[in-house]
Amino acid sequence: MQVSSEQLAVNSYQFDESPKEECGVIGIFAPNEDVARMTFFGLYALQHRGQEAAGMAVADGQMISMHKGVGMVSQVFTQSTMAELKGHYAIGHTRYSTTGSSSLRNAQPFMIETINGPLALAHNGNLINSAELRNELMQQGVGFSSSSDTEVMTMMLARNGGATWEERIKTAMKKWVGAYSLVILTRDCVYAVRDPWGFRPLCIGMLPSGGHAVASETGALQTLGCEAIRDVKPGEVVSLSNNALKVMQALPSVTPSAMCVFEHIYFARPDQTWDGINVHHVRQRLGEELAREVVNGLSHGLADENGQMADVVIPVPDSSVPAAIGFSRVSGIPYNDGFIKNRYDGRTFIEPTDSLRKRGVALKFNVIHENVRDKRVVMVDDSIVRGNTTGPLIKLLKNAGAKEVHVAITCPPIAHPCFMGVDMGRHEDLIAHNRTVEEIREHVGADSLYYLSVEGMMKAVQRKDGFCQACFTGQYPIAVDLSNVKTGFERGTK
Ligand code: SF4
Repeated sequence: MQVSSEQLAVNSYQFDESPKEECGVIGIFAPNEDVARMTFFGLYALQHRGQEAAGMAVADGQMISMHKGVGMVSQVFTQSTMAELKGHYAIGHTRYSTTGSSSLRNAQPFMIETINGPLALAHNGNLINSAELRNELMQQGVGFSSSSDTEVMTMMLARNGGATWEERIKTAMKKWVGAYSLVILTRDCVYAVRDPWGFRPLCIGMLPSGGHAVASETGALQTLGCEAIRDVKPGEVVSLSNNALKVMQALPSVTPSAMCVFEHIYFARPDQTWDGINVHHVRQRLGEELAREVVNGLSHGLADENGQMADVVIPVPDSSVPAAIGFSRVSGIPYNDGFIKNRYDGRTFIEPTDSLRKRGVALKFNVIHENVRDKRVVMVDDSIVRGNTTGPLIKLLKNAGAKEVHVAITCPPIAHPCFMGVDMGRHEDLIAHNRTVEEIREHVGADSLYYLSVEGMMKAVQRKDGFCQACFTGQYPIAVDLSNVKTGFERGTK
């Protein structure tokens, strides 16, 4: 088993016990290919799901080699690090969140040597009962080097009895409560595992040169040239180790399922198709539904005293572009670009100077003055979480000469935390917790503020049920002990 020097170099930790998952995973079995290079490009297509750390582990039938580090995929891997990763089986991970010294400690995959051979694991999701499971293991003498629930899962798999890895995985799944889309690597197999609720996506496809790949999003599989793509079903364990997939329904799927609706609103890339529903199309419909609700509503501020509608609809790039197009289509208000996002604003290790830091969102977005000057603007955004960026964006538009800025949010108010793998904040961090829409409008300084209703959101998704909506409704698909569950909230970008 090889472990990179970066992995060993970490020696100063702070334990906060709060898992922070919001990640992308990939797994590949490709007998005739350079799997490390394929995994790199798959991870590249999943970069939006995690920009704090990346890693991959590769098996050659005997041993597993791994490399992981803090930063973007292109920062973590080089030609020479990938040249060391030889084999036909691989898993990879991109990770969001965590800061400072804890980042590398929680970077994935996790890898250990077990009595049954080397084992590596990469996870998207969050176990609700991880603290309990971790305590149980600690009482049995198991030590941990991270605060991640993925390490808990890895240790459980290593200790479980059973003649095969499938049996050990199935035994562990019976104890795991929460969201997990997992890729697991042994010396001669990749396993794809999805929780029985189906919280987070995971899809699988056939590679043109033989073998299969599994990934959080269909876009990553398309990058690799995959065909015959399908979802890993809730409760399934799929083994990738020869040209035919081996599928086991390890646990019965929960009905109705609890797919994360926020994947459609914000998180997934628009080319993702999940359970037959394309994200880009959902986002356009979210904008259309919101326009219907606003324009058909009894009172709205988009028309002035003469009944004249606003002048222009602009998106907050990038995820709100399709929604703004939908909003424009239904409202009849012309669409135009208002912000230009700095495409290369991804995390670097270079901190901005104090004077640049004070520029806040202005470091990330420039305004096309000519498109908003002297105009009544509708700014479409996918969500407001903490309320940190909406106000500064409105200010940017007003400084550029916008007469009015009306804000249209293509989801309902986020008033409850997520415990299933999306890092949003605790109740008190959320701007919509215990605040009315009018109070939020005042706080962000909008001329008017509109949120899509839960019903409108589900119309856009074109499903009546099967989706988790807990961050909007507070109705969690799994009973959550609010006094005992911690979430990780270091991201704070919205
Ligand atoms: S609470 Fe919200 S973000 Fe979390 S899984 Fe449910 S819908 Fe997704």
